[in-house]
Amino acid sequence: MRNVYAKCCILMCCFGQFSIGQTFAKPSADFSVPTTKPTDINLVDGLRYSRTGECRQQFKEAVKNAKLFCAEYERDHPGERKIAIVSDIDETLLDNREALTNKTDIDLNDWRNWIDEARAPTLKVTAHFLKWARKKGYAIFLVTGRHEHGRPATVLNLVKDGVAYDGLLMRENDDYGPAEIGKVKLRKSIEDMGFKIVVNIGDQFSDLVGGYALDCEKVPNRMYFIP
Ligand SMILES: [Mg+2]
Repeated sequence: MRNVYAKCCILMCCFGQFSIGQTFAKPSADFSVPTTKPTDINLVDGLRYSRTGECRQQFKEAVKNAKLFCAEYERDHPGERKIAIVSDIDETLLDNREALTNKTDIDLNDWRNWIDEARAPTLKVTAHFLKWARKKGYAIFLVTGRHEHGRPATVLNLVKDGVAYDGLLMRENDDYGPAEIGKVKLRKSIEDMGFKIVVNIGDQFSDLVGGYALDCEKVPNRMYFIP
């Protein structure tokens, strides 16, 4: 009997620890934006790295953690309705490697032309995650550093790729400020609507800092750095 009681206590402790919630959480405060470009980030080596098993594994791991956090959040907040996922677009949801191949640096005109072509494929792991989350009732907000003038092409690209989303939040055309500031305002506007951002996922640290998300997931990108 004593053994049964002890086992129950252990189970209750374990359950209690879980029910407190956010076991898997990586809050925004855990991240910071480096003040200078990290030395392991460059286009040529980063492209090569993006095609390695290690990179794919890191990507999958981040999305797996996002799903685990969602499951945990739902268990701790049953019936909550205004819940949201925020995802960055470039190198998180859309794969721009075709436009970056055989280059040593990013040319802004080439980049704009590539966006206008609206034919970037999705990164499947993230696309599947967003589809999974939306089915479960999460609103999907895409928060991107792309400027408003790229909205028609971005929408077209997402439609062609079959990405369903509920909001597309972009930079104003005259905004060339740091992403780490602009994206915070955009996430705040989502929470001001009454949504709780459960997961925020991005490839840049500037996607994740500044709050307005319970769990932040970083997918790998060693090709370029956006502060
Ligand atoms: Mg990105």
